[in-house]
Amino acid sequence: MKTVIIGGVAAGMSAATRLRRLKEDAEIVVFEMSPNVSYANCGLPYFVSDVISNRSDLLLQTPTSLYNRFRLDVRVGHKVTKIDPAAKTVTVLNLDTQEVSEHGYDNLVIATGAKPRRLDIPGIDRALTLRDVVDADRVKALVHDAGPQAKAVVLGAGFIGVELAENLAHLGVDTTLVQRGASILSQFDAEMVEPLQAHLVANGVKLITNATPHEITDTEVVLADGRRIHADVVFSATGVVPDNALAKDAGLKLGPTGGLWVNERQQTSDPSIYAAGDAVEKQSELTPGAALVPLANLANRHGRLIADAIAGKATAAHPALGSIIIGAFGVGAAITGLSEKAAVKAGIAHTAIHLHPGSHAGYYPGAKRVSLKVLFDPETGRLLGAQGVGMDGVDKRIDVLATAIRAGMTVDDLMDLELAYSPQYGSAKDPINHAGYIGNNVLHGTTPTIQWHELPQALANGRILVDVRTEKENGAGTIPGAINIPVDALRDHLEELVGQQVVVTCQVGQRGHTATQILRGHGIDVVNLSGGYVTWKSAQDALAR
Ligand code: FAD
Repeated sequence: MKTVIIGGVAAGMSAATRLRRLKEDAEIVVFEMSPNVSYANCGLPYFVSDVISNRSDLLLQTPTSLYNRFRLDVRVGHKVTKIDPAAKTVTVLNLDTQEVSEHGYDNLVIATGAKPRRLDIPGIDRALTLRDVVDADRVKALVHDAGPQAKAVVLGAGFIGVELAENLAHLGVDTTLVQRGASILSQFDAEMVEPLQAHLVANGVKLITNATPHEITDTEVVLADGRRIHADVVFSATGVVPDNALAKDAGLKLGPTGGLWVNERQQTSDPSIYAAGDAVEKQSELTPGAALVPLANLANRHGRLIADAIAGKATAAHPALGSIIIGAFGVGAAITGLSEKAAVKAGIAHTAIHLHPGSHAGYYPGAKRVSLKVLFDPETGRLLGAQGVGMDGVDKRIDVLATAIRAGMTVDDLMDLELAYSPQYGSAKDPINHAGYIGNNVLHGTTPTIQWHELPQALANGRILVDVRTEKENGAGTIPGAINIPVDALRDHLEELVGQQVVVTCQVGQRGHTATQILRGHGIDVVNLSGGYVTWKSAQDALAR
């Protein structure tokens, strides 16, 4: 039984090594067109800046190490140029010798990944991209030649663009990040990603949003609105597209997203040909239909699953959630499942809550704010998505929430999660438990809330806005039109509020919750502004960009 694998990184290598562990007698051949196999593409931006200084740390395996441990026949510098499904052969070009050869297979695995999207603008050939170690070598050499006085422009503020911008700034390079959309990292809701983009700017990255690149000249990037940015080095990081030309030429079915179609056993429309990774579209856990989710976890797990399928095990891919995390200059932002804008786009009913607890107990030194947004079904409370941003503790909260979503839990269930606690790591009521308490109050009508984007309409409809923070906090900045009645004085002002429709707000929503309960106890129609002033301010700052 011979298995040929095209592409020797995340999906391809997971399939190869798992298959060997399951079948000692299988013949396994891997063709990889780049000079390296099993390289750490997620580490490439950090290699550019020498955060990862040792190039060999990026090369997790070599053909020799893979032969020694797994008896894999790995051929780097070999590009597969054709698949013939009828003859069950692949045609291979040796990029060193230009020799062409043909190889038969019983099972074929396509793990060709994704390639950088190419902008169709004049001068795009000058723009560097970052896909593999060869690209990283080229980028590093050019950036170092240009020196710290150089000016760089990064087109596209997705994950790779933001990571590149951070690492260029670490080198002292004057870096401008150009984003077509209104915010960086389009997977996130604007108010959630704002702290990260503000932090990028505070650390010297020049951010231009709502901008379309029009042309790249020898010295500049020209935007569609006529702005010209001097650029000694230009990077294009405007997303990736499935690298499936081979599969397309072989007549394999593509899905509506442009990714390769596969069934739950990762089989393509030809049952002898499997595929996984960025070349393939995934079934989505929370929205109907398929999606492109080019992430390393999914590539690895689906590659592993292919080996199980080839070995005859009963197996089926679980749909994708899309859990992502990124950090820049010490601020992390993470998302799992649906953002609010994705829920709106898919027409999925949802309730959103915001909270801003400390990463660990406030009395223990070093606690940082971790801002969370959690989405759940307004009828059942089933968790639909979560986002987090902050300097500490974002990763573990989003990972807990990703696990909870995967388990089909409700927002009420978050109240009962027993999470490890000591003051340096968390709080007796962890932010996750807090999300449960807030969600429970909202879901069951204890504390009616509104979102920052619903506030203008509520005020236009005649609600009055009461800021229940202290006078001092209020003086440092409040929402226009708010009257200040500190929560501790609220019971002395009931006469002014009886008969009114009220929105209460505070710093993060907690005192607003108490105020809501006081006013409700006196028969006043009141809603709490979710996430308070902190969420509202982030949203306004994001809108002002
Ligand atoms: P790849 O890992 O891209 O491997 C595909 C391989 O196939 C390539 O080596 C290519 O040379 C080879 N190939 C293609 N065509 C042929 C052919 N015809 N013949 C022979 N070989 C061929 N994901 C995360 O989850 N977190 C991160 O932090 C993260 N950071 C990233 C940073 C960068 C700079 C990049 C580029 C990606 C990052 N990703 C990240 C995405 C992640 O690396 C991919 O989702 C994952 O590697 C996809 O695995 P894959 O096996 O499908 O494709």
